[in-house]
Amino acid sequence: MTHHIVIAGGGASGAIMAANLFRLGDGALRVTLVEASGEIGKGLAYSTTNPSHLFNVRSGQLSAFSGTPDHFDRWLAIHHPELTRNGPFVPRGIYSEYLEAALRETAPVGKLRILPQACVGMRELEHGVEVTLADGSSLPAHFAIVATGFGTKQEGEGLLSNPWTDPLPEDRDARVLIIGTGLTMVDTVLSLLDNGHRGRIVSVSRRGLLPQRHALHRPLQLSTADIPLGASLHYLCRWLTDLVRTHVASGGDWRDVMDGMRPHIQTVWKNLPTESRQRFLRHAASFWDVHRHRMPPAQAERIDAVLESGQLEIVKGRFLSAEQRGDRLFANVMRPGWDEPGPFKADVIYDCRGVRRRADQDLPGLAGALVESGAARLEKLGLGLEFDRNCALVNMHGEPSARIFGIGPVTLGTFWESIAVPDIREQARQIADRIASGGRSAARGSIARLP
Ligand SMILES: Cc1cc2nc3c(=O)[nH]c(=O)nc-3n(C[C@H](O)[C@H](O)[C@H](O)COP(=O)(O)OP(=O)(O)OC[C@H]3O[C@@H](n4cnc5c(N)ncnc54)[C@H](O)[C@@H]3O)c2cc1C
Repeated sequence: MTHHIVIAGGGASGAIMAANLFRLGDGALRVTLVEASGEIGKGLAYSTTNPSHLFNVRSGQLSAFSGTPDHFDRWLAIHHPELTRNGPFVPRGIYSEYLEAALRETAPVGKLRILPQACVGMRELEHGVEVTLADGSSLPAHFAIVATGFGTKQEGEGLLSNPWTDPLPEDRDARVLIIGTGLTMVDTVLSLLDNGHRGRIVSVSRRGLLPQRHALHRPLQLSTADIPLGASLHYLCRWLTDLVRTHVASGGDWRDVMDGMRPHIQTVWKNLPTESRQRFLRHAASFWDVHRHRMPPAQAERIDAVLESGQLEIVKGRFLSAEQRGDRLFANVMRPGWDEPGPFKADVIYDCRGVRRRADQDLPGLAGALVESGAARLEKLGLGLEFDRNCALVNMHGEPSARIFGIGPVTLGTFWESIAVPDIREQARQIADRIASGGRSAARGSIARLP
């Protein structure tokens, strides 16, 4: 029997998921990728065409298949040999080309269908799943996978410009204010510089922290037993700081510890008491992010140069609101130690606060619809949907689905580290494995009896 799997969302997660399904599925499945934009493998991260927008992980970690780590590097050597000469951090804009090639390589003829539509609902039935589309039609499937990404709004909000979709200022001397000092700010500054921008750029965030830079290092080999799982955030932070201190004192690099922790983050997050997770989001997430998501050296050098020249200034402060007076914009920013917010004058304000959803925002799109119908529920912190450890969607009664799964940033609230390609491909392998083995047992009995 051929199993039909519907994937909602054809960004990097959806494409990696489909390629892994085909690889593990022995040709006994067909996949429908439902992608609202009709463009596969792009999504928010890989739609950029600016060659200065680099991956923040090395090319050796970007294979779509965790079991074939050199798959991307081999493709790169054949199709973009010129890029391999510039070091291991390559432009993100080529990734959708790679993902399309991975799909062509793995999908048997006639088994992959791409539907340029929005998926608006999923309902688990006794023997399958019904997936509803925006045009009112529905698709019957054996399994469905939610791969709709961060699901945050992509349009600029009010007076704030969207760094991914709004044009760069025509006036090269315009005064630019950027809300956020993370990797999206870095991309935006590089876009401005590539466009010949001469004007002043001020970037503001609560802590004023810039992402650290990558350097050669060797990840520490940590086992789960080394980590104080279940301890409070306070204890965990002290343990990690001590580990870094001891490691650096013996000649190592702090990055060794950060990257040594990486394979264990999902386990740490799962074992962290809810109150500690909340404290992490409030007090530690921005420190974690700047050490964990680092700038490639080529980007760091350009950012250092504009900081040194004074064209770019990083300011500590909390953005409150923006208003327009005449043809100028003003951002109200509360600086540390100030009693009242001070206005920052700007011609353009970019919102680079990142794509992570805040718990107070409505859950948009398909994810919101799944919660409304009871097919899903929010995880405890309200950051997103709840999944079980096998990426199965958990319904309003707390029961994991046997047929609906989630992959990528949509699972962030449950796993925390499920955003970067190395994490996404591992989830894809797990889900594909589960579906393939489910399919094999279904061939012997009823598919409804999947574990
Ligand atoms: C700017 C940026 C830079 C990044 N850089 C790196 C990096 O350097 N290295 C790294 O490892 N990771 C990086 N990441 C993280 C990561 O690789 C991405 O988060 C990844 O692209 C997630 O892919 P996704 O398909 O889950 O989500 P998205 O990219 O958000 O794509 C979701 C797709 O689903 C579609 N969709 C949404 N809702 C529906 C619906 N209801 N029906 C049909 N289609 C729908 C959308 O149109 C979109 O195409 C970056 C992320 C961002 C945002």
